[in-house]
Amino acid sequence: SFNAAVADAQAALNAFIVTTPEAALAAAAKVDADRAAGKPLGKMAGVPIGMKDLFATKGVQTTAASKILAGFKPEYESTVSQKLWDAGAGMLGKLNLDQFAMGSSNETSAFGNVISPWRRPGDTAPLAPGGSSGGSSAAIAARLCPAATGTDTGGSIRQPAAFTGISGIKPTYGRCSRWGVVAFASSLDQAGPMARTVTDCAIMLEAMAGFDPKDATSLDMPVPDWSAALSADLRGKKVGIPREYRLDGLSADVAKSWDDGIAWLKDAGAEVVDVSLPHSKYALPTYYIIAPAEASSNLARYDGVRYGLRDLPDGANLQDMYAATRAAGFGPEVKRRILIGTYVLSAGFYDAYYTQAQKVRTLIARDFEEAFKQCDVILAPTAPSAAFALGEKSADPLEMYLNDVFSVPASLAGLPAMSVPAGVDAQGLPLGLQIIGRPFDEQGVLNAGLAIE
Ligand code: GLN
Repeated sequence: SFNAAVADAQAALNAFIVTTPEAALAAAAKVDADRAAGKPLGKMAGVPIGMKDLFATKGVQTTAASKILAGFKPEYESTVSQKLWDAGAGMLGKLNLDQFAMGSSNETSAFGNVISPWRRPGDTAPLAPGGSSGGSSAAIAARLCPAATGTDTGGSIRQPAAFTGISGIKPTYGRCSRWGVVAFASSLDQAGPMARTVTDCAIMLEAMAGFDPKDATSLDMPVPDWSAALSADLRGKKVGIPREYRLDGLSADVAKSWDDGIAWLKDAGAEVVDVSLPHSKYALPTYYIIAPAEASSNLARYDGVRYGLRDLPDGANLQDMYAATRAAGFGPEVKRRILIGTYVLSAGFYDAYYTQAQKVRTLIARDFEEAFKQCDVILAPTAPSAAFALGEKSADPLEMYLNDVFSVPASLAGLPAMSVPAGVDAQGLPLGLQIIGRPFDEQGVLNAGLAIE
């Protein structure tokens, strides 16, 4: 039965935090009724999707994979999820993720890590599905759902897509409303679709995107019909290859996949040009100052008063309750980020770290502006390697952060960026290639993705 299949998959992958098959069936029934009544059907009519558990869903537990939100049932629906329901989609369940979307492997979840459906041949070591949208990537790769929402602050849609052989696009900052999405780093957070094909991503993004007055950074621009304009004919287009991304120690498999991608885009008619993004080497430290700074401010709202967990020891005063609730509710990575964030924002260090990082962020954005004078899209690896084993990097936060080296620059610049499957490494594990576009040019990104797919 459906429920037995869900239970088996759940035991193997731990992709869902809660399952809501009744919601998906209700959406399908509504599609049947609408069709019988001759009503027009939405873009996502009847499609059962997974919802990353960072989106507030009315009446359905929303945790951000943190104990501090355990049992929290929002009174409201996020704009993006509401748009998907309005387009006819139905929710199969809430997908596991790194706690508050902080991580690259899904190992920071308070609900246990997600396990990738992929294995190295002859090796039983469970692999990371990527993160933070690892429940989304694992569920799609294992065919538990055809599509899911993700969010991407520094790579959390693209890197898990690459690790599991699926596609995902982070649109231009502001395309998808952040209203009702648990905030991590507000100047970077963007929602986007994850699915098996570029076309599915385009259709789902059309349903998710659009101006929302409830989000002060929402883009007030029409949502193009990306899926209708999809074309893998890249004649007349220029693809930039950023020379600084040829890092020392880039794995031979990733370098080969990148070369293959260049060849495929040439076959599709594109001209390939060398471009420079000179401040790339500062992107990772810049991101790991700005993201924790914003996180430390955003997470101040979890105080034991307003949401989920409250730890009120006997005889405790208000300060004790804050401390006890946060000590019990936040996981170690979340605490690390809050500490880094409060440190870089503190009076003595603000100028040395936070102000500097903001300046470098501007330089990184200008690098892209210059590069896009010479090309229409940029092609790069999504991540420096294929999926690593669970436990391989979790002991060393810095090792984990280094995995984000190729994904954070586009996030800092607010640019649309997509990962598409691009072959396998020597052990048969999927690799992803990343296409970065000009602001608002999701079409160019999707078209190049289609040419590689
Ligand atoms: N891995 C990055 C981090 O830990 C990005 C996470 C994300 O995009 N949500 O911050």
